[in-house]
Amino acid sequence: MKNYIHGRWTKSHSSDKLNVTDPGTQEKLWEVPLGNRDDVDSAVKSAFGAADIWRNTPATARIQYLFKLKGLLEDNREEISRVCTMECGKTLAESRAEMQRAIENVEVACGIPVLMQSEFSEDIAVGIDEFIIRQPVGVSACIAPFNFPIMIPFWFLPYAIACGNTYIVKPSEKVPKTMQMLFELIDQLDLPEGVVNLVHGGREAVDSILDHPNIKAVSFVGSSKVARYVYERAARNGKRVQAQGGAKNPVLVLPDSDMEITTKIINDSVYGCAGQRCLAASTIIPVGDHKRVFTEAIVEAAKTRVTGYGLEAQTEMGALISRESKARTEHLIQKGLDDGATMLLDGRKAKISGYEKGNYVKPTILENVNPDGDLNRTEIFGPVMGIIHVNNIEDAIKLVNENNYGNAACIFTSNGSYARKFRNEANAGNIGINIGIAAPMAFFPFSGWNDSFFGDLHGQGKHAVEFFTQTKVVIERWPKEWTRKF
Ligand code: NAD
Repeated sequence: MKNYIHGRWTKSHSSDKLNVTDPGTQEKLWEVPLGNRDDVDSAVKSAFGAADIWRNTPATARIQYLFKLKGLLEDNREEISRVCTMECGKTLAESRAEMQRAIENVEVACGIPVLMQSEFSEDIAVGIDEFIIRQPVGVSACIAPFNFPIMIPFWFLPYAIACGNTYIVKPSEKVPKTMQMLFELIDQLDLPEGVVNLVHGGREAVDSILDHPNIKAVSFVGSSKVARYVYERAARNGKRVQAQGGAKNPVLVLPDSDMEITTKIINDSVYGCAGQRCLAASTIIPVGDHKRVFTEAIVEAAKTRVTGYGLEAQTEMGALISRESKARTEHLIQKGLDDGATMLLDGRKAKISGYEKGNYVKPTILENVNPDGDLNRTEIFGPVMGIIHVNNIEDAIKLVNENNYGNAACIFTSNGSYARKFRNEANAGNIGINIGIAAPMAFFPFSGWNDSFFGDLHGQGKHAVEFFTQTKVVIERWPKEWTRKF
């Protein structure tokens, strides 16, 4: 596997390599180089060199490359989705869906000429006008997680380049081939050399990005611990940073919600992508007196979900990314039991016929989870639902707001005033009302609060335009008497 620097596939300067394995079989797929400072430096040199040409290319011309990219993404959807499934473990349908989200972000970024429009005030004083212009920030970079290898870099990349920045992508070393394939499409765009670059790697590549004086803006998505580290280190180095972290998303279920639809949606939210989604529901909080009805319905829904290899047509839930991830999930389940929870559905010791070595955990449900225990306090990132019953909506919202994270919070109800109260009072950046995965469309910012986000401006939509541009206020005087007659 190679880096893509200055419009060419380039061998890494590093001899360190990592084996990439298929999470569903544990078989080795390929090797990825763990890029070093020299690799990042080459990418930055190239991006820095291309910055002037690119920012002086009119926005209307820049977006023509994105129109072409949209077509290439659509034409290659299937092939890239297959590779994504192989290295990430998710189902093919899930890979296709994230491909769709990536395409939608390209589409929104095609609107940059409008989104970057300036604000203008004429005659703020006699003969004086004032206006704002937006200019690119310069070389920018993104550091991505494993769980959405296609979609997440596209929360940033299309906006960055449409706004006139040059760009570097550092994908997760666990799923590098998917981004390599996307760069094979980018290579076909005939962009000026250096506008977009790819550097494979892990920690050294990240630190080199965070320290490089010529990188002006960094977008990060990953676990909260690393997000905080990235935020602090990049900010200390004077960069603009947006760092999206982990999550622990609560879902309230009120007795007036439609139990059949609600349990189906919650089931998809908890177990989609095997729980490895930053918006996945994790703690379910039934409110009031419908304990039995809810728990029986949700166990029935979860039991029927077919766990298996991602490329098999019948599979509804794939494997966890690694052995460590599986062990960690099972450890947290045990901690939950030790802290007093009751097991309603045990997905440990999952054996998938033909894929015995894969990192599978089947849907798991624990009831009466200790709110202060590790299972409720820690991001699991696995197919585990913890249920905590409460008596009223005030207690439920209190529980939501005791959570250190704040990525998403959802409520299921048919009562508008409860929904409104929740929307106002829940401390989370993405709110779902009768929605299980509160994922904003590409023209809305992907929000997130507390330990789920460090920074100000989020990815996607107008926030991305703000993040990737800096404003200049121009105050201009043209006295009438300077108008010469010809
Ligand atoms: P991760 O934090 O382990 O890795 C993310 C990136 O950081 C990778 O590119 C990796 O190479 C790099 N990295 C890892 N450890 C590092 C270190 N010590 N120093 C410097 N760089 C390091 O995250 P992951 O396991 O790949 O992804 C899962 C996490 O991402 C979950 O916590 C999930 O909630 C979060 N996530 C958040 C969002 C969001 O929008 N908030 C979206 C997707 C995933």
